[in-house]
Amino acid sequence: MKQTKRWIVTPVQPQSYKENDQTDITKELSTTTMSKQMIQEAATMLRAGFTVAFPTETVYGLGADATNETAVNRIFEAKGRPADNPLIAHVATKEQLMRLVEPLTPLAQLMIDTFAPGPITFVLKSNGTCATNVTAGLQTIGVRLPEHPIAHELLQACDVPIAAPSANTSGKPSPTAADHVWTDLNGRIDGLLDGGTTGIGLESTVVDCTEDIPIILRPGAVTREQIEAVVGHVMIDPALLRSDSKPKAPGMKYTHYAPDVPLWLVEGSVKAIQDSINEARLVGKKVGLLACDETVQMVEADRVYPLGTNIQEVAAHLYDGLRDFKRSDVDLILCETFSEEGLGGAVMNRLRKAAQRVINSATE
Ligand code: AMP
Ligand code: MG
Repeated sequence: MKQTKRWIVTPVQPQSYKENDQTDITKELSTTTMSKQMIQEAATMLRAGFTVAFPTETVYGLGADATNETAVNRIFEAKGRPADNPLIAHVATKEQLMRLVEPLTPLAQLMIDTFAPGPITFVLKSNGTCATNVTAGLQTIGVRLPEHPIAHELLQACDVPIAAPSANTSGKPSPTAADHVWTDLNGRIDGLLDGGTTGIGLESTVVDCTEDIPIILRPGAVTREQIEAVVGHVMIDPALLRSDSKPKAPGMKYTHYAPDVPLWLVEGSVKAIQDSINEARLVGKKVGLLACDETVQMVEADRVYPLGTNIQEVAAHLYDGLRDFKRSDVDLILCETFSEEGLGGAVMNRLRKAAQRVINSATE
């Protein structure tokens, strides 16, 4: 067992310094100074080859120096992650990104100029700077510039690329709160920067930018529609649409996001959801319901987790919801489905990967 150090970090939003602001500026400034010191300490640990989890705008990442093979191995060990699943290298600036890759194609340059920093990973041709276990031996590397203030400051302080997959035990839902990281990895990692809950709540969009047309390998908060608006034509990895095709992002072949209890998706109306709950209860099952606030109010289940009022809130709460139902609470989780438009595409991608079964009332 390692001793995992936990720093509570308060990111200070620039609006705290607005004129006429009633907040105590002295207190805010000292918090900032303390937070900066904690981030520096975490950066020193990372540079020395240790593992530190940190918040980003998507989910918490588990970081290690991407140029240090031994340090990167510690990530795979802590998570129990299969070695053939490559890691994303995180950097603070475009200059740092350029140190890791071959000269950019015009498409890659346009994509990076438009969408970085943000919740998107660019798959580019690697120049071999990162350790081979980061890329799982591929000639390409996934690189991301997060825009979360703690992640950004940490990466700037490190000044080396930081390999960081989601900071969960492999196969579990990704962590969107420091407590999720703590539950999975306390004693297995060296540090945790606790910055509260993450904003988006789903992993980054992964886009292959090595050819003339971008290929979406994993949907995320930067949507197909947004990319199309900039580059015209976008391709989707066929594996995202058909399960018999091998995914281009090696990690997408794994079952992800598995909650502790079986999850079934219910397509259709509120009545279809209530019917499915009633049927499961008839055979003695205790049923938990994951659904938007409106549905939760209209349906009766043994336990409910309201996901929010819009798709952004649903994305932000989804993994906490999946983690929330424990075996002792319920025997089955039912979740409603959402429109695939915009962020809904990423939400439905994660739900399909987490679910054992899809119930379609029209075909039942
Ligand atoms: P995670 O960091 O746990 O969210 O997983 C990273 C995702 O990015 C996985 O699905 C990986 O397979 C994918 N990925 C990382 N690097 C590459 C790469 N060079 N080519 C294709 N996919 C990648
Ligand atoms: Mg992951």
